[in-house]
Amino acid sequence: MEKHYEMLWDCQFCGTKKLLGKTHRFCPNCGATQNADARYYPSDEEKVAVEDHVLVGTDRICSNCASLLAATVEFCGNCGSSTATAKTATLREQQERQEGERFEGEVGRNVQQIKHEAQVAQAQAQAKPKRGNRFGVVFGGVIVLVFGVIWAFTRTTDTSVMVNGHRWERVIQVESYQSLSEENWRDVVPASAYSVSCSQRQRGTERIQDGESCNTVRRDNGDGTFSESESCQPTYREEPIYDDFCRYRVDRWAAAREVAAQGDSLNDTPQWGNVNLNCANQTRLGCEREGNRTESYTVQLSDDNGDYACERTQAEWASMPLESRWSLEITSIGSSPLCDTLQPQ
Ligand SMILES: [Zn+2]
Ligand SMILES: [Zn+2]
Repeated sequence: MEKHYEMLWDCQFCGTKKLLGKTHRFCPNCGATQNADARYYPSDEEKVAVEDHVLVGTDRICSNCASLLAATVEFCGNCGSSTATAKTATLREQQERQEGERFEGEVGRNVQQIKHEAQVAQAQAQAKPKRGNRFGVVFGGVIVLVFGVIWAFTRTTDTSVMVNGHRWERVIQVESYQSLSEENWRDVVPASAYSVSCSQRQRGTERIQDGESCNTVRRDNGDGTFSESESCQPTYREEPIYDDFCRYRVDRWAAAREVAAQGDSLNDTPQWGNVNLNCANQTRLGCEREGNRTESYTVQLSDDNGDYACERTQAEWASMPLESRWSLEITSIGSSPLCDTLQPQ
């Protein structure tokens, strides 16, 4: 619900204060015309309601004689000038207060002085020497440093290496059907679970509306009045949500052991180990099945400064005989081999 009230203004000629924006278009004491740019909001106690107010628009100020003009007139009632070039009155910024607070009244402003102070501040701002050079230097330094560090850490050097060893390994994972102890929220406990025991636990929170908070906002109508209206937003509180958290047992396939075979000679034929599955092809506790297989082929290399190890495919590994020479890039910091750069020499 919107209500309208009078703005206030002070007469700059005779000093009369708190004149009414709509009622007193002229100072009742000296007859001076109202300065629309100097209007201000009253306190709650001082505000004067305007009943059945019809908004027609922001007042204007005659560009010829500074008379106050309603938004609808086409010619100045005082000097007869067209209102086409009239300046629109300045609106006060909106005021806002929380529930339970009161509006403080504003103090009448000396518009001439405010204008003068603004001009002085602008002149001072223009006279100030430009800063920011030092910031530029620091910023530039940081950029150089960052790129320097990146360059240092990505720099590589070429070295000549000799093959002095080989290693291969083949691993088979073996899984067994096991009774596992697990815990989870009830809605994700598997259907096959047994020995289930649950208790309540906080799973999250929810927002519950528990009221609303209302602000009152004042807006300058620009015609000597302002409007006051309330706007309300819901307020919330956080409530914990509880759910069943369960411990249970469940029978599953899970990693049990691995069978590794390895060797350190190019003359070997790499093989998979013998898994010997317990009760293969059955699904009951204690029985086993094969899981993933992995294999790796490593060449050991060295130069005057140290030893390196590179993983290769089996075919690449087999084509790198002992004491053959290769070129290899290593990182300048940390001397890590970049194995993709291996080339025969
Ligand atoms: Zn006056
Ligand atoms: Zn005029």
